[in-house]
Amino acid sequence: MKIGVPRALAYYAYYPFINTFFEELGLEVVVSDPTSKKIIDAGVEDAVADACVPVKLFHGHVKNLMGRVDYIFVPRLVRVNKEATFCPKFLGLPDMLVFSLENFTNMLEVRIDIGKSKKQLFFLCLSVARKFKKSFFKAWCAYRKAKESLKNFKFEFLKGSIPPLGINVQVNNADVRLGIVGYPYLLYDPYVSFDIINKLIKMGAYVITPEMVPEKEKRKYAVKLKKTLFWTFSNNVLRTAFHFLETKCVDGIIHVTAFGCGPDFIVDKIIELEAKERKMPFLTIAFDEHTGQEGINTRLEAFVDMLRRRKIKEAIVV
Ligand code: SF4
Repeated sequence: MKIGVPRALAYYAYYPFINTFFEELGLEVVVSDPTSKKIIDAGVEDAVADACVPVKLFHGHVKNLMGRVDYIFVPRLVRVNKEATFCPKFLGLPDMLVFSLENFTNMLEVRIDIGKSKKQLFFLCLSVARKFKKSFFKAWCAYRKAKESLKNFKFEFLKGSIPPLGINVQVNNADVRLGIVGYPYLLYDPYVSFDIINKLIKMGAYVITPEMVPEKEKRKYAVKLKKTLFWTFSNNVLRTAFHFLETKCVDGIIHVTAFGCGPDFIVDKIIELEAKERKMPFLTIAFDEHTGQEGINTRLEAFVDMLRRRKIKEAIVV
């Protein structure tokens, strides 16, 4: 039995859990190919025109798996904690795919709504295992291994690695520290983000992403807004930005976003205003399927140069 896992959206946040769980159940996991022009074009062809690029990409990755596997895993990601849900496009993803893709009949739709108690995740795993006629014991073992795998993945980030990009060591003699905030499916998909993280590292910057900041630290900034945002990934981005702004552990912040992203209209504006108030350099980079590489390179180089000059100027004044 082969199970296809699209390399898009929630994949970048949870793939160690997803892959390990299915493998431990005894299924063969086939992850869609890394994003390419062909996959983007395939997604754009069938997705609704006003969808953001990550959602279009998900369509492309599903098409990449069609005909190669028995089932394609499509999560309907609703909630993983008590305070927020995921963006409406995550909630409606299986419906969008069914209506947009002809002959998509082998979807393994899994509704993930596990915000009320920790036990819910296991019972969800058990129900998936039952679909494949696996025993309670098998489900329990697969669940435990998957949890362990996700824990190790998160720990790698905290140690300064970026596992989805295969980066183990950051530049030791970096003279600029940069906080990069954005959703994992943008930051860690090197094709769609034009490999922005590696580019900045090559420019001599030390890069810190939201996953590299401990959860406990980010949670401290939940009180910064009068009201929690509705969306889980957006809260993560915003709290990380507040961490950078308050601790001043970085010289500048870059927000990586997608054209047409509703939640980011709010998130980006809040970060911009807060950064302005604290005189923290801030840059927004927005991507869609038409974004050109050269324009992005020029803006990144200019931003890093500006930060270097600023640091030299500050050193002279002191
Ligand atoms: S949060 Fe934004 S980028 Fe992510 S799926 Fe929703 S609209 Fe698209």
